[in-house]
Amino acid sequence: MVRRNSLSGFLAAFFVAAISASAQISAPEPDPLARMRQAAASVQACSASEISACAQAAPKIIANALGASPLAENLRRLTDEIGGRLTGSPAMGKAADWAVAAFRDAGIDNAHTEKFTIPHTWSEGATHIQILSPSGFPVHAVSVAWSPATPPGGIEGDLVDAGDGAPEDFARMGPDARGAILLIRTDVLRSFGDLFAEDLRNPGIIERAVSAGARAILWMGTREGMLLSRHLTGLGQDGSIEKLPQAIVAREDAQRLARDLGAEQRIRVRLDLPNRIGGPAEEQNVVAEIRGRERPNEFIVLGAHLDSFDLGTGALDNGCNAALVVEAARDIHLTGLLPKRSIRFVLFSGEEEGMLGSWAYVRTHREELDRTDAAIIFDEGSGRVSGFSLGGRLDLQPEVLQQALAPLNSWGVNRFTEDAVLGTDNLDFLLE
Ligand SMILES: [Zn+2]
Repeated sequence: MVRRNSLSGFLAAFFVAAISASAQISAPEPDPLARMRQAAASVQACSASEISACAQAAPKIIANALGASPLAENLRRLTDEIGGRLTGSPAMGKAADWAVAAFRDAGIDNAHTEKFTIPHTWSEGATHIQILSPSGFPVHAVSVAWSPATPPGGIEGDLVDAGDGAPEDFARMGPDARGAILLIRTDVLRSFGDLFAEDLRNPGIIERAVSAGARAILWMGTREGMLLSRHLTGLGQDGSIEKLPQAIVAREDAQRLARDLGAEQRIRVRLDLPNRIGGPAEEQNVVAEIRGRERPNEFIVLGAHLDSFDLGTGALDNGCNAALVVEAARDIHLTGLLPKRSIRFVLFSGEEEGMLGSWAYVRTHREELDRTDAAIIFDEGSGRVSGFSLGGRLDLQPEVLQQALAPLNSWGVNRFTEDAVLGTDNLDFLLE
């Protein structure tokens, strides 16, 4: 969704954010909400006072966002020129260089990288599924990300219809699952909720497949029209290599295989996943900062992940939001006003492998977390901003957010949920 004229660029600055006002609770503070109430009070003072920098800032920031902007060109370079950028890959290194340069062009000259270690790098080899018998058809498939490689020459096995991969499916298969390559059926993915349902369901299926002695899993693609997608198989990842070789088979091909199995055909397949696995390796977040004028040691974090998977160019997930964090820095810097607190702009790596970059960030900056008044994370695609997920902090809505978002009332940024989004970089700020 590379839509970016300057107007949509600004709107994107508020798009479906998983806001996670920092939830860390410092021991000496008896009331964990006190800091937020203080913040709310200061926001009110800002918007009520004509002479406050806050009151001056909003229209200037909006004007900058609505004016000519390099956002579209920045996003084009990140997606069309660099393209998909797996954590730990050379493309991801180029993306980090892009981010440092983009922040500097935006006027933030302290942009730098912060290193951390990932356990594994991974890239796909020439994934191939061959139907050995009966005479087959070309099967379109890609490896699951961070799937182990198969041995040279691949692995052979009977293809077994494992249904939905539920416990009753494994009970039905019994010993047939041992040594088999399992075909797991799926529903078409239609909503964001479906995505999380899949993330929650898959780890159990893999555990059952390992226990049953299966050799590999073929997942029916969840997108129609032969569209292939790549991701890891579930939540709770930590950058480890998956436990079984796994591939995603184009939905229509997988359905054909399932029909053949349903017609009592015995299907023998060879699965070749010559994935390249390395590491441990050094990876990096990109960090830039506008220093606060009154409380430079208190922080507001604006973040998005810069890494992506690599079948596409990572424009929606999450290039558009990485570019908008840079644009937000530019729009604020251009006002010539200094914020009360420091605003820190962070582009994380390793998000897709289990939020490894944000985890590294909160560990590196642990001592600052009690002075971090908000962490606002952008990672749910593009489009008009509708509101924020508040990470359990519904108390923020009336006081802090409605005041802060008052200049945007006419754009309808008014949907707030109490949800704590689990699948992106806000989680580490919630946990820590
Ligand atoms: Zn994302």
